[in-house]
Amino acid sequence: MLDWLIIGGGIHGTHLALVLTQRAGVAPERLHILDPHPSLLARWHACTANTGMAFLRSGAVHHLALAPEALTHFARTPDAQAHCHFIEPYRRPALALFNAHAAHVIERHRLHERLLVGRACGLTRAGNGWRVETTAGSVEARHVALALGTADQPHWPAWAQHLCTIGTPIQHIFAPGFCRADLPPWEHAVVVGGGISAAQAALALAQQQPGTVTLLTRHALRQHDLDSDPGWIGPKYQAGFQQITDYVQRRMTIQQARHRGSVPPDVAEQVQQAAQVGRLRLVQAEVVQADQQDSGQIRLILADGAGTLTSAGVLLATGFAPQRPGGAWLDAAITELGLPVAPCGYPIVNSALCWTDGLYVLGPLAELEIGPVARNITGARQAAERISQAGYTGSYRAIKGRKV
Ligand SMILES: Cc1cc2nc3c(=O)[nH]c(=O)nc-3n(C[C@H](O)[C@H](O)[C@H](O)COP(=O)(O)OP(=O)(O)OC[C@H]3O[C@@H](n4cnc5c(N)ncnc54)[C@H](O)[C@@H]3O)c2cc1C
Repeated sequence: MLDWLIIGGGIHGTHLALVLTQRAGVAPERLHILDPHPSLLARWHACTANTGMAFLRSGAVHHLALAPEALTHFARTPDAQAHCHFIEPYRRPALALFNAHAAHVIERHRLHERLLVGRACGLTRAGNGWRVETTAGSVEARHVALALGTADQPHWPAWAQHLCTIGTPIQHIFAPGFCRADLPPWEHAVVVGGGISAAQAALALAQQQPGTVTLLTRHALRQHDLDSDPGWIGPKYQAGFQQITDYVQRRMTIQQARHRGSVPPDVAEQVQQAAQVGRLRLVQAEVVQADQQDSGQIRLILADGAGTLTSAGVLLATGFAPQRPGGAWLDAAITELGLPVAPCGYPIVNSALCWTDGLYVLGPLAELEIGPVARNITGARQAAERISQAGYTGSYRAIKGRKV
């Protein structure tokens, strides 16, 4: 039986593996990371490359390594010299620099050797630990951490779901397997979405074929540096959040705190400039209906008499579906094990992110405890800290006085 099985080899799962093996004394050979992809951070690399982003939205202290200043130090090494470095505010690192540093951390601590390629499909108790059924056989571990992320569940608006099922040329930037670089040349491409990923993808396509791209947004570009107020990273807002005993209220607080569909000012400026010189067309309207024409093209019918847009290629950048990640196998485990969930379906965990003895959560699954930043890199760092410090002794302490 392993000491730890981490399910999910994204930023959250990989950082937890690092913290457990390098700081909490877990022997590396007693820990595995289960992920269906042949390398760690696969979904991070695919999603970020598909947006065309050059810089992260978060600052220089948010990265994979242990010490907050590690990325800054790495940027001064010869390995990093080739990459463009940081931009303000928050000293946001270049994606190339962030990725080079992540690769360096993984290599240095041989985390890739901890990867077990497979997908979890069942979770049951086994003795004083857990049995995880996977597509690569069953694995037993005393502790299991669920670091599933949402990158496998892109959000398809209702009008687009039908088009997808009948095989029209509509794609989602975050769909597993999609690769923007493989898009064939287009006459007119429409990028749908109002957040940072839509803006960046539209800019990247417009760079490739100027004057042929429309960015279709439901609202004017909303400008925010980060996807929630920086006060949520620390006690300024988290302390108050911890005092909320009603999980419906916690969910509402998270929803209100998130700047969904927002862009940092530098990206907004790039879009405005591209629109001014005609490299990109910016249309603000909501799609009410969509169909496929005899020519094979997709026609988007816009609300409030705003007309139609026709294109042989529609690219959605509409984010991720809000439902609890995991799917059927986790649903079954929740029922069979009687795991507590809030009305929104998300786990109720204690402050060590422990759901029940030996079972831990990170990322979206931890957001009712960590708050709006749970999905971000800082959320990964905070979750790993909490699990390694308090939770790893294993026993679950229920939370008193919380209202479900
Ligand atoms: C384009 C983009 C840019 C972003 N930029 C920033 C930024 O600048 N700063 C910031 O703080 N945050 C940013 N984020 C948010 C967040 O940090 C990233 O989404 C991050 O990759 C989330 O990591 P994760 O480990 O939770 O999830 P994922 O990257 O989704 O990894 C989870 C892994 O678990 C695997 N998995 C799922 N189910 C199973 C199963 N049953 N069995 C085994 N494995 C499974 C998945 O296949 C996946 O490989 C960004 C997100 C996106 C999409």
